[in-house]
Amino acid sequence: MQRKKDKGQLIVLSGPSGVGKSTVIAELLSQRDNIYFSVSYTTRQPRVGEQDGINYNFVDRAEFERMIAAGELLEYAEYVNNYYGTSLKTIQDKLNSGVDVLLDIEVQGAAKVRSRCPDALFIFIIPPSFEELSRRLHRRNTDSEDVIAGRLEKARVEFREIPNYDYLVINDKVSGAVAEIEAVLTAAECRVNNRKSILTQFA
Ligand code: 5GP
Repeated sequence: MQRKKDKGQLIVLSGPSGVGKSTVIAELLSQRDNIYFSVSYTTRQPRVGEQDGINYNFVDRAEFERMIAAGELLEYAEYVNNYYGTSLKTIQDKLNSGVDVLLDIEVQGAAKVRSRCPDALFIFIIPPSFEELSRRLHRRNTDSEDVIAGRLEKARVEFREIPNYDYLVINDKVSGAVAEIEAVLTAAECRVNNRKSILTQFA
């Protein structure tokens, strides 16, 4: 059982498409209380099995561009010809009510969050090898060969951003990756700065 905090922790998780982030996130959310997964907005088409409002909020380009113009997004990026973005209001409300917020976003968006929210935790997930990433993308069987090639190319560019992150998690086995993220979140919770409200009684 976790104690409710004054302010939630913003957690940014990045990693190449196909690394298994969604599975790791689903497992993490099932194990941990008081954490909210930010459902992003995207203009890409839903994959088989994906549900509107659960995996993503699926919108068209006109609506996405309206949200950009209205300043409704904390960050957004264009990734393999589609927009992806995070709703500012939803995450602010959660953080202010003491709930941790997890963002699954790519590296350009993460860079924007880094400049706007320096207290966020930045975690990058990698596969055990590049070959394994390619195997996972093929096994997923949801994208054309062209799209997979684009995603692999993009992954190489994304890996160059790893030095800007705080933690590197290896998703060999899901349970191992989840345990590493749990450890990072627990360590962050123990920071003196995050325990100020407890400290007052010892003053
Ligand atoms: P996919 O199409 O495989 O679901 O996601 C493609 C990439 O977009 C992933 O790297 C994912 O982390 C990223 N992504 C998902 N939502 C957002 C978002 O709100 N903002 C940004 N910048 N990237 C996102």
